[in-house]
Amino acid sequence: MKEGRIIKGISGFYYVSLEDGLYECKGRGILRKDKVKPLVGDWVQVSHLDAEEKTGTLERVLSRKNQLKRPEIANVDQVVIVVSVKNPSPSLNLMDKIIVLAEDLGLEVVLCINKGDLETEKGITQNEIQEIYEPTGYPMIFTSAKGNRGIDDLRNKLKGKVSVFSGPSGVGKSSLLNAIKPGLQLKTGEVSERIQRGKHTTRHTELVSVDQDSWIADTPGFGNLDIDEIQRENLRFYFREFLPHMENCKFTSCLHLKEPKCAVKAQVEEGTISQQRYNHYVQFMTEINEKRRG
Ligand code: GDP
Ligand code: ZN
Repeated sequence: MKEGRIIKGISGFYYVSLEDGLYECKGRGILRKDKVKPLVGDWVQVSHLDAEEKTGTLERVLSRKNQLKRPEIANVDQVVIVVSVKNPSPSLNLMDKIIVLAEDLGLEVVLCINKGDLETEKGITQNEIQEIYEPTGYPMIFTSAKGNRGIDDLRNKLKGKVSVFSGPSGVGKSSLLNAIKPGLQLKTGEVSERIQRGKHTTRHTELVSVDQDSWIADTPGFGNLDIDEIQRENLRFYFREFLPHMENCKFTSCLHLKEPKCAVKAQVEEGTISQQRYNHYVQFMTEINEKRRG
């Protein structure tokens, strides 16, 4: 019996990565007994290995640390959120939403600000984005897929992890992956697009290896930004830069909204917490509340 990770699943066959290569494994009845559907990203036990034919049998799915809904992958370590400084100009609202959803799943967050070569005096600069997000402590990588800048930094951040890329279309996710590992293209096409085109093929998400032990999902994550699934009381914990100040709020239950003597709001006034980040917090809270009432 050996343990490995499923990196791809196609019609009842699961492709498990072991030291000596990829094994095509059958599901068999044991999985029906356990009542778990094996997912890409799952750590599994395999038996009946045939090193020549590279085949085997899936015996057991080991417990998951997390599970993404779209794409459906287990055991994701981190999300790389990509925005571009221009074309399209950065949606920091969207970025903050993805951060919240990632935090809720316990994923690590990496911020990637792409298209540095297009920086102009008019638009928002990489420096301005850096200022807003510095207090969060998230690693920030400044790249230009076109100018081949920051690619090594990005590649280093992926080491030993399973990563999912996320961010609006057109920011350069696919180009970045292609720069990291030529030939690696992100599958695009959200559900709505597929329906419009009238295609009914099922897309299979795969993990593709960047190097040993580093994997990237070939489908971008968090297409559906269901912020209203977040618990209202938890939202404040997903704005990292609030955390060191919370203990100074008058009320331990402070939601940093209308409460008096709120230390978080005081920091926003002082400028140590970005006004924009705080505004997004209030906005997301409203969205969650509206959903509850509706
Ligand atoms: P995706 O939808 O996020 O996967 O974005 P793509 O990788 O398809 O890129 C969208 C467009 O932006 C393409 O025309 C790319 O050539 C262009 N692009 C990607 N990265 C950069 C960059 O760093 N600088 C510039 N100037 N263009 C880029
Ligand atoms: Zn407060």
